[in-house]
Amino acid sequence: MQRMQLLAALKKLQLERHAYQHAMNSIEFDSETIAPRGSAEGRSVALGILNQKSYELFVNDEVRAVLNELWSCKEELELPERRQTELLREELEKMTRIPKEEYVAYSQLVNEATEKWRNAKEANDFPAFRPYLERIVDFQRRFAGYYAPKKKPYDALLNEYEKNLSVDTLDGLFSMLREKLVPLLERVKGQPPEPAFVSARCSVDRQRKLSAYLMGLMGLDPAHSAIAETEHPFTLAFNKCDVRITTHYHENAFLSSMYSVIHESGHALYELGMSDEIQGTALCEASTGMHEGQSRLYENMVGHDPGFLRFLSPKLSELFPEAMKGVSGEELVCAANRIVPSLLRTEADEVTYPLHIMVRYELEKRMIDGTLMVKDLPEAWNELYRQYLGVTPSTDAQGVLQDTHWACGMIGYFPTYVLGSAYAAQLMQAIRRVLPVEELLSKGSLAPITDWLREHIHQYGCLYEPDQLLQRATGEGFVPEYYVRHLCQRVEERSNCYQ
Ligand SMILES: [Zn+2]
Repeated sequence: MQRMQLLAALKKLQLERHAYQHAMNSIEFDSETIAPRGSAEGRSVALGILNQKSYELFVNDEVRAVLNELWSCKEELELPERRQTELLREELEKMTRIPKEEYVAYSQLVNEATEKWRNAKEANDFPAFRPYLERIVDFQRRFAGYYAPKKKPYDALLNEYEKNLSVDTLDGLFSMLREKLVPLLERVKGQPPEPAFVSARCSVDRQRKLSAYLMGLMGLDPAHSAIAETEHPFTLAFNKCDVRITTHYHENAFLSSMYSVIHESGHALYELGMSDEIQGTALCEASTGMHEGQSRLYENMVGHDPGFLRFLSPKLSELFPEAMKGVSGEELVCAANRIVPSLLRTEADEVTYPLHIMVRYELEKRMIDGTLMVKDLPEAWNELYRQYLGVTPSTDAQGVLQDTHWACGMIGYFPTYVLGSAYAAQLMQAIRRVLPVEELLSKGSLAPITDWLREHIHQYGCLYEPDQLLQRATGEGFVPEYYVRHLCQRVEERSNCYQ
């Protein structure tokens, strides 16, 4: 085939895959938002067919031949086409290496395991879930060999979510957190109780107005973004012209949805900022860690910033006049940045959050390298919570069974939450070199920050690997110290609250 024909075939393949993805995303979004409860059956038939068609479109000899031919003249290709070919070849090879029967058996297992996990959590019955987790760990160890036969198994699993990430990098980050952060938590012991306004009633209707205000403040164009309500907040992007976020409103905890909207809008801005040239191609994606980097930058570095909270305070008083009556900007800063070691990851504050992840990281690493048996997991979990957070769960439901990730087969995913926060701190450090960040945040002026991110991160999608992207944007390799320093500063700010 001529090069022009090969490139045309490459473009067509990606557009067609994208179309299937678009359809499947629509169905998923619908199922999470307004589809009636009894609609699962018909949907899963439709999704199964679309999935199968999309698989057949990609995994076949014709596609393999096109990609191989393009790769053989890679030096002559432009960077975007070369990178598309590289990513698609990698994906195709990986999909071919996993034996089909194993993949089918694994999909069934995960389906069943999520159900078993839900029941086990409800009944506080870890032994009922244990055999499923044992099989998932076995599968994951085997899959690691298919994903990257030359890598250590846990590194191979990490790289499914963040390319080039390794245990060495994470060990460095987590040991720094353990050394600096764990002793600092002593300083926030014996804080006064949470002020009443945090759990005062704020109507959902008013909270919806707050969401619209925040999305506007963050520059989400209403012509290209929308918000819906779901059990758990998430972001789903169809393309740069259509990005959806969701939130969950709690009448007695307005800060919960406020931070969800800021977080998800951070994800949305990434998708809205990807360039026109990469739309509909394999480049229109981002690494899990870098995506989380954008959401955490807005949630942590912007949303929890004292200057930004002081700026936001009058708006909150206007929307929630009863709840916020007599509450000063300073009181809002202190309440939003309360630090309390707790049992549940999803309710953790910014400072103790990484310690929750550290527990999961250490345990899954040991399960994959075979030094921790699943049967010993609850005990190991409780011991690490005691060591790092100073709290011990009284039930497995509040301990090892609290998250769905392992039941879904997501081993190697948790660390990207902390990696994202660390990327966010490093990006903000780079932004501070060129922009008066404090001043901007205190005026609620976020556009210059978003413009910087768009220029240095968002537009590229996955044209570069995440570590290369970080290097290009900040002029440095990964520097975890910025994150650790940021958290220490939050402890400092917090201890000023009740002196
Ligand atoms: Zn997120």
